[in-house]
Amino acid sequence: MTTRINAVPRAVPAEEVQVPFADCYITAAAQNAALRVLRSGWVTTGREVAAFEGEFAGYVGADHAIAVSSCTHGIELALRSYGLPRGSLVLTSTMTFCGAVQAIVHAGLQPVLVDVDAITGMPTPATVRDAVRAFGQPAAMTVVHWAGDLADVPALAEAAGLTLDQVVVDAAHAIGTYEGSTPIGSQCGATCFSFYATKNLPLGEGGMITTDNADRAGWLHQARLHGMTADAWRRYLPGGSWRYDVAEAGLKANMTDIQAAMGRAQLTHLPRWQERRAQIAARYDLQLSTLPAVALPHRPAPGTGTHAWHLYPIRLAAGIERDEVIAELAARGVGTSVHFIPVHQLTYFGQVASIPPSGMSGADALFDQLLSLPIHPRLTDGQIDAVCAALADATLRRFSRKGAE
Ligand SMILES: *Cc1c(COP(=O)(O)O)cnc(C)c1O
Repeated sequence: MTTRINAVPRAVPAEEVQVPFADCYITAAAQNAALRVLRSGWVTTGREVAAFEGEFAGYVGADHAIAVSSCTHGIELALRSYGLPRGSLVLTSTMTFCGAVQAIVHAGLQPVLVDVDAITGMPTPATVRDAVRAFGQPAAMTVVHWAGDLADVPALAEAAGLTLDQVVVDAAHAIGTYEGSTPIGSQCGATCFSFYATKNLPLGEGGMITTDNADRAGWLHQARLHGMTADAWRRYLPGGSWRYDVAEAGLKANMTDIQAAMGRAQLTHLPRWQERRAQIAARYDLQLSTLPAVALPHRPAPGTGTHAWHLYPIRLAAGIERDEVIAELAARGVGTSVHFIPVHQLTYFGQVASIPPSGMSGADALFDQLLSLPIHPRLTDGQIDAVCAALADATLRRFSRKGAE
């Protein structure tokens, strides 16, 4: 007997529209590309990775791209590339994904958490200065373009007393974010992208580091595969030498040719997917702007840049129970999420990270209000409208109840 997990009968009311929070869309072209590599006899890091690196570097306008197994490993490698003394201070936003802070720890460095503005979800020069005042001059900083919004990296770096070369950008949300008319990817020492299943260029897993610094690119290229001076692909080519040296404590963080071939195919769809994300955000904006209990996501001021719309994080009015709204939306078939539980609220980082005594009031206040709505290119207008209708019901009732108290 075969088990079909999708065959469980379920009574779905006719008016109910199911809206998944995320959608890992692997196109037919990407599936075929994976199959082509599987049949080629060379599946790990090789020609496809080199080609994907070149095409991705071109897409974001950077001189060099180094494909890696994940954005998390990318951030760790980028930080290791500076050769900082063990325990050096690295500033990071507390409103980020835990993996981005694990990367600092695994690089042998000390994470210093920075509070965020309760509207933008990102650090400000003032919160950066609070952290520097509390713990001293940092050696480096990671900056996340949260949700795909544009972080003011130059202002944050200046407040930290750092050059742009000392900044590692966490661009996990920022494929499609522009500073002015320039894509994110070449402004800082290194920029790290994610191809995780839910991200704007989904492969399931994978990451990319971009940089304009040729020395850093060379170091990263070796360090992503055990620190070996010759990669396996070249060693096994006819006439290639079996001999190699190891110059660094490298990681096993390379990308396979299967992922890279899929990435090349997915990349050709990315401009259209980004356009659709912007359309979805505009449709949400229009419908949600009339809801008194909902504040729309922050975005770059006109003319300063472009939002990548990886996430559409609304803020609920204070006093509206976010978790009740999530449950009510779920009961109506609408998937949502929260980005993120502030890092300082997680047990491990509460113990090991440096947390300024001035506290994390911006992140704590924002966290209670945050709600990420579904946004992915295959979302239909009907699904968007269903999300808005469900959200209107869930919040208006609570808002008027709150007003009557
Ligand atoms: C997803 C994500 C990461 C980690 O990406 P992986 O490729 O899964 O390692 C890092 N930072 C942020 C902000 C993320 O959202």
